[in-house]
Amino acid sequence: MKRTPENKAPLDGDTLKKIAPVICYPTGTLPAPDMDLYRTLRNNMILEDEVVVPPRDAKTFRVKAGWFFRIVSMDGPQVGDLNLWAQDDLWERFYSGKTRALHGTHLSTGDQMWSSFPFMRPMATITHDTLDWYGFDAYGAGVHDVIGTRCDPYTGKLLSGKEYHYCCHSNLIRALADEAGVPLADAERYVHDVLNVFMCTGFTRDTHQYFMKASPVRPGDFIEFFAEIDLIGGLSTCPGGDCSSEHSSDAAECYPLKVEIYKPDTRRLAEWSSPERSGYSQSHGR
Ligand SMILES: [Zn+2]
Repeated sequence: MKRTPENKAPLDGDTLKKIAPVICYPTGTLPAPDMDLYRTLRNNMILEDEVVVPPRDAKTFRVKAGWFFRIVSMDGPQVGDLNLWAQDDLWERFYSGKTRALHGTHLSTGDQMWSSFPFMRPMATITHDTLDWYGFDAYGAGVHDVIGTRCDPYTGKLLSGKEYHYCCHSNLIRALADEAGVPLADAERYVHDVLNVFMCTGFTRDTHQYFMKASPVRPGDFIEFFAEIDLIGGLSTCPGGDCSSEHSSDAAECYPLKVEIYKPDTRRLAEWSSPERSGYSQSHGR
């Protein structure tokens, strides 16, 4: 939110404001995922496992490189907060900020979820999204954002003075602690900013504040990912439910979400190889 300016615009202020923007990270040189191959791989894929995440909770799941997973809406509109970690090193985790810089504020089919430095490689590619029809609405809102962080007990405490333990941040910590067999404090270091699955969000036009509105997701909707490396996923069913009113409380109606894990058509999998970590030398000028 901007306060009333304390400084006068310079004489050429209007001219400066009229300079056209340029894209920070043009993606023309970004290696494009082979979506034709992925379509072939998913054609005959077989459901191998599923995990149901109860309301206001989180679960982890494992997906082998080259396999697919879906997040499926079950009984009612529900938002999910997704974390991704490399199976062999939890420090390699989803980097929502850089993914946003490359692909924009909201993700859909063809976009990739990039990992943190110094790894910086695609962890997953979105291969289907039943909500791709939504695009951007008149408020500038879209679905599946990488602009929010995750609801957490620290911000809740700051704003309301109350303690609430079933925010996505805490849900993901409990789930990862169980998965990795580590104390909560250790697991907390690995929990990171999320992909807000099914959440409908944007920035207000006047103050550019983060807003949410009722998710358009309905039972049967899903978003599907191709695992580019061996993954551990963490999915929290947000206490905000469809995020139409509030989160960080027990007020909203909440529903479970299902994760389905699929084995691909292995005959064509040999045409694909898992991406290498970044080739940057890490010399940083020394
Ligand atoms: Zn949440």
